[in-house]
Amino acid sequence: MFKPKAIYFEKDIENYQLGKELMEKYNDVPKIEIENHNAIDEMRKKENKEFVNMKRNLIIGVRKTHKFVENHKVSDYLVPYTSSGCTASCMYCYLVCNYNKCAYLRLFVNRENMLDKIIKTAEKSEKDLTFEIGSNSDLILENTITNNLVWTIENFKNTKKGKLTFPTKFDMVDDILNLRT
Ligand code: SF4
Repeated sequence: MFKPKAIYFEKDIENYQLGKELMEKYNDVPKIEIENHNAIDEMRKKENKEFVNMKRNLIIGVRKTHKFVENHKVSDYLVPYTSSGCTASCMYCYLVCNYNKCAYLRLFVNRENMLDKIIKTAEKSEKDLTFEIGSNSDLILENTITNNLVWTIENFKNTKKGKLTFPTKFDMVDDILNLRT
């Protein structure tokens, strides 16, 4: 079970249910307030070789950009969702190549806004769209911290149209296999 060394958080997360839950869950973990999850000075100053240690922290903020990117592979859109980066340290990780030392897990607590945009886009479309929600992180791993996949499936299952997809390499799937859809 992942237990962060420290939590870097934006003040605004306390205005969201998930933000409150995470602060309560980790009430015994040292907290550092930050202005913006994208610009943490302390992290910027660290050397690249420290990226594994940096991944022992958790960054919690509010996602401001919700731009869907067209995709012509397994989905219609790549969608920014509830996290980016992850807590694992696979040496071949493409996120490390893309984000460099900032491939640590960032959680975004405004999941209601993000899922609402997906549902509205799905229901407005004539086509049955597929949304890829796991291109920025591994959501099965994230789910062990936030329960966000369970929440997402429960809140998406009655949508009239649309599908969600995400890849994973982890097997902690019991929580979602037991859901009734
Ligand atoms: S689990 Fe996936 S996202 Fe995380 S470090 Fe490994 S390859 Fe990268």
